[in-house]
Amino acid sequence: MKFGGTSMAGTERIRRVANIVRTQAAKGDEVAVVVSAMAGETDRLVTFCREANALYDPAEYDVVVASGEQVTAGLLALTLQAMGCRARSWLGWQVPIRTDDAHASARIEEIDAPALIASMAMGEIAVIPGFQGLTPDGRVTTLGRGGSDTSAVAIAAALKADRCDIYTDVDGVYTTDPRIVARARKLKNVTYEEMLELASVGSKVLQTRSVSLAMKEKVRVQVLSSFVDADAPGADSLPGTMIVSDEEVEELDMERQLITGIAADKNEAKVTLTRVADRPGAVANIFGPLAAANINVDMIIQNIAKDKGETDVTFTVPKADLPRTQALLEERQEAIGFFRMISDDRVAKVSVVGVGMRSHAGVAAIMFKALADRGINVQAISTSEIKISVLIDTDETELAVRVLHSAYGLDAEVEAAGEE
Ligand code: ADP
Ligand code: ASP
Ligand code: MG
Repeated sequence: MKFGGTSMAGTERIRRVANIVRTQAAKGDEVAVVVSAMAGETDRLVTFCREANALYDPAEYDVVVASGEQVTAGLLALTLQAMGCRARSWLGWQVPIRTDDAHASARIEEIDAPALIASMAMGEIAVIPGFQGLTPDGRVTTLGRGGSDTSAVAIAAALKADRCDIYTDVDGVYTTDPRIVARARKLKNVTYEEMLELASVGSKVLQTRSVSLAMKEKVRVQVLSSFVDADAPGADSLPGTMIVSDEEVEELDMERQLITGIAADKNEAKVTLTRVADRPGAVANIFGPLAAANINVDMIIQNIAKDKGETDVTFTVPKADLPRTQALLEERQEAIGFFRMISDDRVAKVSVVGVGMRSHAGVAAIMFKALADRGINVQAISTSEIKISVLIDTDETELAVRVLHSAYGLDAEVEAAGEE
């Protein structure tokens, strides 16, 4: 069971969580619980790091930001004990959750937890702070923002758990962020691949890495709400959204929509280099140095050469990396051979995702027409087998998501006010 930041924010909410955990354990299940820091706490700790040292050492950043989860793990163990349950916390180094040494975005390498397993077998509820791990030389790491989801899936895999229930502040995965589109619909099932694409293009309901890990380790994941009444059906009746395999979804959902979900991401910036020489090696000269600097390039468009064998190249990078991108390319203007660099951080990427697109033509055409009808200009396009993304003006993001949500027939029926 994993509980996110909103679910852990304060004594009352932790008591609510403890009740859910107690009910599950009372059924005779062995339970491990992974918790996030209280909502807002990790942001607060990050700010302290920045204030202390703008060029902070990631290893010391990890020491600071990992502490939020230590607090909630201890508090949940205490609350469970107060209810008469046997509970024990296990910090990252105590389990141990071994990671590489990429501080601030470490990857889990191994969880071999005989002591944890033995204590659970004796009836103790294990409470584990999410987000944290341990380097080979014994220092604290964190797994990147939103990383408690990944901790939970990794623990579930290590324990060979029947299920990994991710409790959050919405009751499942929706066709799009229900806080932005009121007509979003809850999905009963979503495939690993779809969830992976949705997470990576902006649906932050699950951390992307947690989904790829679940897919690799075949962990059964359910997303559900911790904000339910005591008499609501329990997690075992699968009230939330199940992440399932392609085969399962075919069995479960014969009448699936063409598109499963829509996501938006405002964290990218667009860069255009004009009049780049149209010859072998030109794009390698642009993207080589960016790769070497660990800057992740996402969408790329290169026009066909105009006169004089020159072309424009447009691409996107994370907004946070825009200053570094600009500096790197300016330094190399002569070597690359471009005329001007134009950058724009007022862009948003809107993506539609669905396995149905594999076997259906015309999915992109619906998207472009719906956007055109609202006068929304498409600045760049990228696709994968089950995803189409467009880059648009950031001011049009919510409108675009809503328009596409209707265009693909995803809107939930809404009862008109005053009827009945
Ligand atoms: P937690 O603190 O529990 O990890 P998060 O804030 O990380 O919670 O994730 C839950 C949030 O994800 C929801 O409140 C919702 O606004 C957002 N979200 C974005 N896209 C979706 C989606 N497609 N379905 C459900 N929630 C989504
Ligand atoms: N507390 C961490 C964060 O806010 C990890 C998590 O909640 O998943 O990013
Ligand atoms: Mg989260």
